[in-house]
Amino acid sequence: MSKLWNIAVVGATGAVGNQMIECLEERNFPVGKIKYLASARSAGEVMEFNGKPVLVEELTHDSFEGIDIALFSAGGDRSREFCPSAARAGAVCIDNSSAWRMDPDVPLVVPEVNPHAIARYTNKGIIANPNCSTIQMVVALKPLHDYAAIKRIVVSTYQAVSGTGKKAIDELRVQTGELLNGRPAKCDIYPHRIAFNCLPQIDSFEPNGYTKEEMKMVFETKKIMEAEIRTTATTVRVPVFYGHSESVNIETEKKITVAKAMELLKRAPGVDVVDDVANGVYPMPIDAAGQDLTLVGRIREDDSIENGLNLWVVADNIRKGAATNAVQIAEILIEKYLK
Ligand code: NAP
Repeated sequence: MSKLWNIAVVGATGAVGNQMIECLEERNFPVGKIKYLASARSAGEVMEFNGKPVLVEELTHDSFEGIDIALFSAGGDRSREFCPSAARAGAVCIDNSSAWRMDPDVPLVVPEVNPHAIARYTNKGIIANPNCSTIQMVVALKPLHDYAAIKRIVVSTYQAVSGTGKKAIDELRVQTGELLNGRPAKCDIYPHRIAFNCLPQIDSFEPNGYTKEEMKMVFETKKIMEAEIRTTATTVRVPVFYGHSESVNIETEKKITVAKAMELLKRAPGVDVVDDVANGVYPMPIDAAGQDLTLVGRIREDDSIENGLNLWVVADNIRKGAATNAVQIAEILIEKYLK
């Protein structure tokens, strides 16, 4: 029998944590012991793994004895504080928060784009999972970049509330119900009402007028693609539960026709080309949710510049944008690096 690995899921009770557990089950990850960690609020709750009960424990610095891989999704503060303890105990951390992403010693990995970067996990015992919007964009752009060298990206996002976690999912559900029943909607998670609205603010504003989310797309794209691609982003929260959509405009060194882009994208790993406008077929969050591919459609040449292309890119932010990407990294780690 092949080796089994002891896994800790940090933030097991959250939106991403729940999905990570489901991904480990679905993909038959060779799990030996599994440990669910969360805050003191959830300690003592019983969840399941492959139909067997697992007790949720409070996250402490001593939680990682005997753990091989720790999947973190409990917020940046917890990752900053506890990843080093987990690494000292011998676990490799795969972190979903933004805490370590831009650390030059920490690889930032999308398996379809830069799997070789995983080798650098030995620096700190930490591998960072990129921001959800960045992951789906680079999955779609990597094959086009390899062919024609992308010089510049202009991206606008339409991001689902599940990207903010379980409390935001409840906020959209409750606000929608209240408004449809003629009652006022209460805002706790977002600065303004999200139901029947769009918020051109994700995370806080930086002094340059961009949000942190927008700047993550700028910086993370360069690090993952290992190229000085100029990127400008506008990130928008929309009243969708699951699935981020993106309008992506690229300018390339060399021309890419629509036919060439289709050909490249059709054979790209992790991509599904959904583009048959004559029959009203294009990517939508309702189709992206619950599966792991990045859907790409509405592929058009941008006639306003010499070498430009427009794309519409949609993926499940909790799966490919977080949990699936992390579990894919873990799969490569055990196959190629851990003994
Ligand atoms: P969430 O649904 O709010 O879940 C947060 C998780 O963190 C819960 O399990 C929570 O445990 C745990 N937690 C909170 N405070 C803690 C503490 N003091 N000690 C231990 N555990 C604590 O949020 P989420 O959407 O899953 O996001 C989790 C992380 O993943 C964040 O860093 C987020 O930026 C990142 N991420 C999210 C997405 C996404 O699409 N949602 C995508 C990429 C990355 P309790 O239940 O006990 O409070």
